[in-house]
Amino acid sequence: MTIHQLTIGQLATALANREISSTAATAAIFARIEAGKKINAYITLDREGALAAAAAADQRLAAGGAPPLCGVPIAIKDALCTKGLLTTSGSKMLANFVPSYDATVVEKLRAAGAVIVGKATMDEFAMGSTNENTTFAVPLNPWNLDYICGGSSGGSAAAVAADQCMAALGSDTGGSIRQPASHCGVVGFKPTYGRVSRYGLLAFASSLDQVGPLTKNVRDAALMLNVICGHDPRDSTSVRRGTPDFVVACEQGLQQGLTGLRLGLPREYFELGLDPEVQQVVAAAVERLVAGGAEICEISLPRTAYGVAAYYVIAAAEASSNLARYDGVRFGHRDLAADELEAMYSRSRSQGFGSEVKRRIIIGTYALSSGYYDAYYRKASQIRTLIIEDYRRALAQCDVIVSPVTPTLAWPLGAKGDPLSIYQTDILTIPTNLAGLPGMSLPCGFSRGGLPIGLQLQAGHFREDLLLRVAANLEKSLGLTDFKGSPKNK
Ligand code: GLN
Repeated sequence: MTIHQLTIGQLATALANREISSTAATAAIFARIEAGKKINAYITLDREGALAAAAAADQRLAAGGAPPLCGVPIAIKDALCTKGLLTTSGSKMLANFVPSYDATVVEKLRAAGAVIVGKATMDEFAMGSTNENTTFAVPLNPWNLDYICGGSSGGSAAAVAADQCMAALGSDTGGSIRQPASHCGVVGFKPTYGRVSRYGLLAFASSLDQVGPLTKNVRDAALMLNVICGHDPRDSTSVRRGTPDFVVACEQGLQQGLTGLRLGLPREYFELGLDPEVQQVVAAAVERLVAGGAEICEISLPRTAYGVAAYYVIAAAEASSNLARYDGVRFGHRDLAADELEAMYSRSRSQGFGSEVKRRIIIGTYALSSGYYDAYYRKASQIRTLIIEDYRRALAQCDVIVSPVTPTLAWPLGAKGDPLSIYQTDILTIPTNLAGLPGMSLPCGFSRGGLPIGLQLQAGHFREDLLLRVAANLEKSLGLTDFKGSPKNK
């Protein structure tokens, strides 16, 4: 196996045994990125910084007792602040923004010895499901370069799938880690709301945003979670709660197997007109779970169909407020030609934001405006409460909810132009965020045309351990324990 194909676990072992240096591994990753440049997984690369971090990691490794990610090349979604390194959030608005500090998760990764390779491509301000909403080059699906890689953490998923890093960080507001992970055949993990600090994450919708890893296998996701989770006094939404050892949870989960675990299949998810290939691959995965000893029950999440409508009001409302800071004065692109203040604001924002972001700001501002607040924002919040109720009832009957991640396969680039038809494809991932639950996407098979298909797992708040238990067992049964795949275009 070549170096770039290694999982975090494999590379960490090779590094600890001094079979390979972090400097060599980092150089191998940059060679791989260069060879797969056309995938456009990165907006910014930091070769110099990465090689310096790798050299430092090699010294720590030589001294012994190195931290868990010491010397491991990792990609960061461009929505997370990196000190001294361009952070654009995929927007012209921030085309020149160089943060003066690291996001907490980035700081934690660096402290754990990770080598930050660069900043992964994304939909502008994390708004999108295809990664086509960007002022930069659109990332391509490594399994078929004519197809979308999903979004909004598309570059993170593509980079992991194409072995252009060992793992990546993404963010998930309505599915942006799980959906691209599903389309690119990698593991994507959205932790419980509050589990991971969002300090230094450029905010999209603050009641929904959560940071999480995209990895080549389940154990690597656990390794990343161990590093990034935990209370942060700089993020008031981060919970004061101990972080269990997620790698141990994986290992124990494998020992326990699936016997005694109740898995719920939400009836409504399967009545939505799923792509038949998605349906088949998911059904086959469910059979394996049963063969592994799990008990299956049918559950009902009756308000699923309202999730998309509620989300696109709530997320847009929060975005319209969060994005007010990009006014050409406090932050962001400024139109230097404007000769008076108001024109400067409006021209800067007109030029800096792309069309999808403008659409959301307009919808969000409208939904919050006096006279409309009750009809839209309040109504959406009420639906949110009903969706939380649905989950409460369902999770009293089962331990883990099993479903597809998204109703369709990845589609050809440019094939969907209508925003509403794209919004609809988020129907299975959005409810997780509305309820603040942990969710993950696990590769479970392929379409006949060779596109990856993921399985979604959801559990109660802070029950990441249950997701890892199911995922580790299924991954083992599918023979994907060191899943790297072999995208045709690698
Ligand atoms: N596709 C959803 C949206 O466009 C989710 C995005 C996300 O999770 N960041 O809002």
